[in-house]
Amino acid sequence: MRFNPKARLDARRTSDAGRGAGGRSAGRSGGIPVPGGLAGGGVGGLLVVLVIVGLSMVLGGGDSPTAYDTGRMADTDRYASCETGDDANRSADCARVAVENSLYDYWSSTLPEQSATAFTPERSLRTFSGAVSTGCGSASADVGPFYCPVDQTIYLDRTFFADVLQDRLAGPSGAFVEPYVLAHEYGHHVQNLLGTMGRVRTQQGARSDAVRLELQADCYAGMWAGSATGTQDAQGAVLISDLTRQDVEQAIAAATAVGDDRIQSSSGGQVDPDSWTHGSARQRVEWFTRGYREGTLDACDTFAPGAL
Ligand SMILES: [Zn+2]
Repeated sequence: MRFNPKARLDARRTSDAGRGAGGRSAGRSGGIPVPGGLAGGGVGGLLVVLVIVGLSMVLGGGDSPTAYDTGRMADTDRYASCETGDDANRSADCARVAVENSLYDYWSSTLPEQSATAFTPERSLRTFSGAVSTGCGSASADVGPFYCPVDQTIYLDRTFFADVLQDRLAGPSGAFVEPYVLAHEYGHHVQNLLGTMGRVRTQQGARSDAVRLELQADCYAGMWAGSATGTQDAQGAVLISDLTRQDVEQAIAAATAVGDDRIQSSSGGQVDPDSWTHGSARQRVEWFTRGYREGTLDACDTFAPGAL
């Protein structure tokens, strides 16, 4: 994946909370409410794609801006120097900003084109290490990347990709893994805007609404990947100059590495379909690929009868 060196980056929606108190071992105590009984043991730490379903059902997508006090969101200015695609080609931090810009551009046009829902951007793509305070409660790095519908923010532990995905899960080390995960979390933001989160009634089992929600976020990630080279900066310059077949295969490999069945196996447990909340590796690859090929919200209707 290469960025157009001349593209202008907009870092206004990307922030960094720095290193939060508590660290990895103590961070769980705050307790993000985790659906589906995922809080037990260390398993929660392996979930790449956590979504706070319960809170979103209560608060819906149109929560008031006062629901979360942005004044408390201190920022380390980590992304202040990310100005161009050239910066993104040199720095993983700036690549994160560029991918966010691409997701923003894609969904700001695609959502109004394909639905009656107006697009509003996420509040922030917020990175942290150790622990972080969020609109959904405090979180430690153990929970992995997640989207909080209350403050409409994607949270990403900066050490996650090195520590968890590669070491513990033996996942791929490719440069497109993080973009895939960001695109998945952005898919949850789109679901929040569409009101899809409110449709989740069942939390556990291979055909549960929670699994459908996760597979749909993978499908939305595929939609973006299929059109990523068409996305532009605010001046109309191409953002992503090159996205190869190999990049897409890395994303698919990442989906394979983070399927619930793989997560359960590598954490020492038996594979147990009744507790799946993210779908199997095969399902995740299928839905990502479907979104990539079809490019429509309709093709990503995992809630349709017979879809799973
Ligand atoms: Zn997810």
